[in-house]
Amino acid sequence: MKPATFTYHSCRTVEEAVGHLGAAADAKVICGGQSLVPMMNLRLANPTDLVDLNRIPGLDAVDVGPAGITVGATARQHTVEISPAVGAAAPMLVAALGHVGHPQIRNRGTVVGSLCHADPAAEMPAVFATLGGSVTAQGPGGTRTIGAADFFDSYLTTSLAADEIATAVTFDSPPPGSGWSFEEVTRRHGDFAIVGVVTLVAVTGGSVAQARITVFGGGGTPQRMAAAEQLLVGTARADVDEELLRSAGAAVSSDLTPTGDIHGSAAYRRHVAGVLVTRGLRTALDRARD
Ligand SMILES: Cc1cc2nc3c(=O)[nH]c(=O)nc-3n(C[C@H](O)[C@H](O)[C@H](O)COP(=O)(O)OP(=O)(O)OC[C@H]3O[C@@H](n4cnc5c(N)ncnc54)[C@H](O)[C@@H]3O)c2cc1C
Repeated sequence: MKPATFTYHSCRTVEEAVGHLGAAADAKVICGGQSLVPMMNLRLANPTDLVDLNRIPGLDAVDVGPAGITVGATARQHTVEISPAVGAAAPMLVAALGHVGHPQIRNRGTVVGSLCHADPAAEMPAVFATLGGSVTAQGPGGTRTIGAADFFDSYLTTSLAADEIATAVTFDSPPPGSGWSFEEVTRRHGDFAIVGVVTLVAVTGGSVAQARITVFGGGGTPQRMAAAEQLLVGTARADVDEELLRSAGAAVSSDLTPTGDIHGSAAYRRHVAGVLVTRGLRTALDRARD
């Protein structure tokens, strides 16, 4: 299928791009085009204008510093995936990228585009919800930062305004020595997750100081599972046994309210999420260093 006609703008500055977004009736940013173009071809999206950021100098930077990993709007998923500095700072991010579609998709698709697309079954939003951090957004009124907890509104919807561009995302650095895991169930490698779980555990002074559990594919946005997290926080590492890990999984199964679809029923997603939480926490604890 072919998309409906649209006006194409290849921009050289962010200000120029913001101007086009504000002026057109229904303009959309395009970066990798790996989600937007299929939607346009299927006529699920019919923008009047496409605002291309790819030729704006400097937007493709990837910087790793003490505070976090900053990825510019046009940096490709593959560039981040093969960065040794990113791999050392946040191995969870690199592991998750290996599950995003296929190499051909990641050569073109962007990390920021994946966040802006906000598919609830996508891997990058779940990593962002787990590590925390912020998106830098630029609109007609200037620049603002949007924290990870406030970025995803609902299915395919973020808190970005229609005339705002996400110029970069910063993923917070994981706590030193923390362990992590990434688990997902798909019908085929490279598919979007039927359901997936990202965990991060920090152990300090013999006790679990932080536990973060995010489920994706289990609702309209990636979800932090507070009740299950609280079961672990403050517990002595020596007391975190199989029974506690299973209780955390059971808490997630009980708290999750997914919808069913042709890929899996709601009950199946609840069950699998619980199993993945137990498994993922085991891995994260094994990786954690006090
Ligand atoms: C066959 C196939 C398999 C795939 N499998 C997976 C998968 O398993 N997991 C997964 O997560 N993804 C998957 N994808 C999607 C892929 O990862 C996309 O690259 C990603 O979702 C969007 O990134 P993009 O740069 O291509 O965004 P685009 O397609 O260019 O844009 C996507 C949306 O985000 C908006 N947008 C993009 N960038 C910005 C910005 N800087 N500021 C404001 N708005 C912006 C666009 O307007 C559009 O609405 C798959 C795609 C294909 C074609």
